[in-house]
Amino acid sequence: MKNKILQKAVKFCDENNHRLTEPRQRVLEIISSSKKPIKAYEILKKLSEVFNNKPKPPTIYRAIDFWHSHNFIHRVESQNAYFPCVENHLHKGSQFMICDECGKVIEAHFCDLPENIKQSTNQKAFIPKAWNLEIKGLCGNCL
Ligand SMILES: [Zn+2]
Ligand SMILES: [Zn+2]
Repeated sequence: MKNKILQKAVKFCDENNHRLTEPRQRVLEIISSSKKPIKAYEILKKLSEVFNNKPKPPTIYRAIDFWHSHNFIHRVESQNAYFPCVENHLHKGSQFMICDECGKVIEAHFCDLPENIKQSTNQKAFIPKAWNLEIKGLCGNCL
């Protein structure tokens, strides 16, 4: 999966004329190889281990934003942390199941808003652009 997301990133940047800068690539590598959602400062810490010239935090935040805005990674709001999208396509919105016991995070992955939420936004003439759904509970291992 790690290589898959990077391959996808190379292709995406190539096709859309984005530069796959070293900080962008490293940030995506770190997020995609993390087993749990990773916070920005943890990404910074890991990056300082691989770069001789430590990149400045704004460079890293911009790299995180870049992948987030292109839906390669999702933000787990309640943890203020980032997690790679498990799916092979880029979709908006993030939906996670978070285990209270072990902290495991599983992407629920609906490509679209659930129908009843859509109805409600339609009724109020509201255009949803981003959403974040987090379901807390117990994972299969912790039951
Ligand atoms: Zn996803
Ligand atoms: Zn668990």
